[in-house]
Amino acid sequence: MRCFYDSRHEAVGSCRSCLRGLCPDCLSVLDGGLACKGQCEAVVRKILDLYQQNGRMMALHRQSTHNFAAFQIWLGLGFMVPPVFSMFSQRFSYPDGFLLTMGVLYIGWGVQLCQREEKMRKRLNAADIP
Ligand SMILES: [Zn+2]
Ligand SMILES: [Zn+2]
Repeated sequence: MRCFYDSRHEAVGSCRSCLRGLCPDCLSVLDGGLACKGQCEAVVRKILDLYQQNGRMMALHRQSTHNFAAFQIWLGLGFMVPPVFSMFSQRFSYPDGFLLTMGVLYIGWGVQLCQREEKMRKRLNAADIP
């Protein structure tokens, strides 16, 4: 690929905005991408900004989902303590069945949340075009 602005030079990269080939003389290096010098810098800066914002939002969302899932699993385990205790002492009482059901439901919910998040992350990674 030749430089778009100066066809005598070989391009070393392409602009993140207009995708034209650029040689070292015509490119401007921005944090995370290249731009046409004096042409596309503002636009590319905006694109990179959006990318970064998106990444931050995704990380934040992932963090809160994980916290929530962990909370569900701990809550489920908490529910299961009295029935398991009863099981060992072989004295089942009336709420044990209910607590056991709640525990299983909460743990299942938490695990499902983790799996869904993992699946989404994989799909996003596969779709991410550098
Ligand atoms: Zn450009
Ligand atoms: Zn050039």
